[in-house]
Amino acid sequence: MQPLNRLAIIGGGLAGISLAYEFSQRGVLCTVFEAESCGGAGASTMSRGIVRVYDPDPWLMRQALQGLRRWQQLNKGFPGLFVQCGCLYLLKAEQTTTAQAALMQLADAGYQAQWLNGPADIVRCQPLLANRALPADQCAIWEPEGGYVNTRLACQVLAQWARDQGAVILEGCSVTAIELQAQRVAVWALGQGALSFDALSFDALVLAGGARSTELLPDTDLFCRSIPLSLLQAGHQPALAQCLIDETCAAYLRPELGGWFFAGGADQIDVPHPALLPDLEARVFQQNQQLAVEILANADLTVQGQLSGFDAYRPGFKPLIQTLSATESIGVFTGFSGRGAKYIPALAQEFAATCLQSVNERLMTEATHA
Ligand SMILES: Cc1cc2nc3c(=O)[nH]c(=O)nc-3n(C[C@H](O)[C@H](O)[C@H](O)COP(=O)(O)OP(=O)(O)OC[C@H]3O[C@@H](n4cnc5c(N)ncnc54)[C@H](O)[C@@H]3O)c2cc1C
Repeated sequence: MQPLNRLAIIGGGLAGISLAYEFSQRGVLCTVFEAESCGGAGASTMSRGIVRVYDPDPWLMRQALQGLRRWQQLNKGFPGLFVQCGCLYLLKAEQTTTAQAALMQLADAGYQAQWLNGPADIVRCQPLLANRALPADQCAIWEPEGGYVNTRLACQVLAQWARDQGAVILEGCSVTAIELQAQRVAVWALGQGALSFDALSFDALVLAGGARSTELLPDTDLFCRSIPLSLLQAGHQPALAQCLIDETCAAYLRPELGGWFFAGGADQIDVPHPALLPDLEARVFQQNQQLAVEILANADLTVQGQLSGFDAYRPGFKPLIQTLSATESIGVFTGFSGRGAKYIPALAQEFAATCLQSVNERLMTEATHA
């Protein structure tokens, strides 16, 4: 493999743009192919971006902590990406022991999450739950550093930063085929209005196409899962100010400006590709509303809107990551399973550093033997 000078990235969602940002920072000339607009298609356009750290899965929890720290850094450079409003997480009874152990690990890592023991503690933290008949042994985790990110804005500002470093970002440009040709990667793309490009040649390529990745990478365990969200407003109650995740009914609420909030958790549908997703039934959005009524014990909710999102999922919710190396000129960075807003920028940073180290080690070895 030659020194990595020209890298193609397929996908201008949070994954592709975070990679463009990281590789551009390291002096690699990136070309991003995005079928629609950066942050304007796929999961990143619909994402509500809740960023919190506790997770029963240790790998996902480590990624989430690194992810939160990365968003805090990015927000210093690009204010407005991250809103720190805090996240309250109501636990299922059977999660208590795992969660207590996880909190100790988080404290060792310098992340102060608070254990809330019983309804009085919980209502003190979130007064909107005062009407709810919480069980006497209900426990919860309060993460004051948690919050939510604006994934659309992140895609746009990080893309502009990458452009300023020389990256080419081709919006409205869909990749139709890729081929490995003697350690180079050829890319065929179709622009809007049937403008077609001759094959373009790159040193390497990373596929970050979200749920559409299966078009170019058919033999994987990736699939597309729907994520329906409802936008609601509560009457006769102060506005929700914190993210609220309720594992007891597998639902969540995320505050929005203007006293509105998003509610999710309704049934999802799995299909091989987003084009095969049916229009979501009204029943699904009613289910979101019902879950919100249950969480807040407040039936006075008005529907303001609904979103039919989707993401690339994998069994076990772990992403599909294949780094570039001395021998691999095609990498993969996708499959974030409805959780990517938390940690994609941190993982992209690690991905870019690992790829370049691996390629450079090979070059040094070749130079030594020459
Ligand atoms: C409704 C909803 C709520 C969510 N809430 C949260 C949350 O609260 N917290 C959290 O952590 N995560 C959340 N997520 C998940 C998170 O947003 C996603 O994991 C993340 O945005 C995935 O980014 P991505 O870049 O991998 O995929 P995408 O955003 O789907 O981007 C893929 C891009 O690739 C482009 N593309 C694909 N194929 C091609 C091709 N052949 N040529 C050119 N372009 C191509 C597409 O047009 C698209 O823009 C949510 C997702 C949804 C949908």
